[in-house]
Amino acid sequence: MLVGIMKGVLRGKGITTAVFLFPLFLFFCGCAGHNSLSSLSEKPRSTVKKEHGMHFNELTPDEERVIVNKGTERPFTGKYYLNKENGTYLCRRCDAPLFRSTDKFESGTGWPSFDDAIEGAVKQIPDADGSRTEIVCARCGGHLGHVFFRERMTAKNVRHCVNSLSLGFLPAAKAAKVTQKAIFAGGCFWGVEYHFNKLKGVFSAKSGYTGGLTDHPTYKQVCTGRTGHAEAVEIEFDPALVSYETLAKLFFEIHDPTEINRQGPDIGTQYRSAVFYTDDEQKKVAEKLIGELKAKGYKVVTTVEHAATFWEAEEYHQDYYERNGHQPYCHIYQKRF
Ligand SMILES: [Zn+2]
Repeated sequence: MLVGIMKGVLRGKGITTAVFLFPLFLFFCGCAGHNSLSSLSEKPRSTVKKEHGMHFNELTPDEERVIVNKGTERPFTGKYYLNKENGTYLCRRCDAPLFRSTDKFESGTGWPSFDDAIEGAVKQIPDADGSRTEIVCARCGGHLGHVFFRERMTAKNVRHCVNSLSLGFLPAAKAAKVTQKAIFAGGCFWGVEYHFNKLKGVFSAKSGYTGGLTDHPTYKQVCTGRTGHAEAVEIEFDPALVSYETLAKLFFEIHDPTEINRQGPDIGTQYRSAVFYTDDEQKKVAEKLIGELKAKGYKVVTTVEHAATFWEAEEYHQDYYERNGHQPYCHIYQKRF
């Protein structure tokens, strides 16, 4: 809490404002403390899960035998066991990124082998007889193979033994080409950035300023409210893995789109709620979602503006919560769709 108050002061709002808002702030802190651990880490993921749960790829009979019925392909027959290309291995059924090519090694077993998985992407389930440990896609539960330990094949001493049939592959070169950008402003950029950085399919989320009148604005200038910039977050994402609509829905659920020029204790035009669209498709999606929220009774004030130059914020604003070990104090996930 003290940290929060200090933050308010540090962010240039002055002691008077901080004291005036103290009772309100207690309320926000209370909510943050109560909900943060359970909701912040889980809810955004469930959004993705739902989205992909409805869009599973169609499987061939062979893929179904392995992924659904937990079969095993014959060794030395799969299309990825010798693949040395740089890129990311995805779940064949739901496209979740599972393994990086940098963790792949030649085990001689005839199946693609990885000594590490992307964090949180693969779930381990001990077999009923206790002899082996099955691995499944954490998002869709599709069978991948088994994981073995203490074989001394690599320094990490782990081998995820995966069926090629359970995998898709996204070459790094292609991933770079398909990356798209999205820009959202919803109050203090620290909290917005925090949530998007945790979403699968997001390569990066950066804090910055946009929608204002001056070039190369500094934090101090934006804090005066006179430059017209909003604190915003620029997101680079792979639309094959996460749709713009999923991003925009998350945006509307991690800030309060009914507050004018304010989020919690942060007050000023720089804290306005805005979607900065980069193409007509994004504009349509944003307007559609605002319409849905209005139909549910939310008095949404979010503006939909054409993306202007995004000015990256000073280094100390990037990954603020991750680096300082705090949770966002006024960006609490709340389901609205
Ligand atoms: Zn999956």
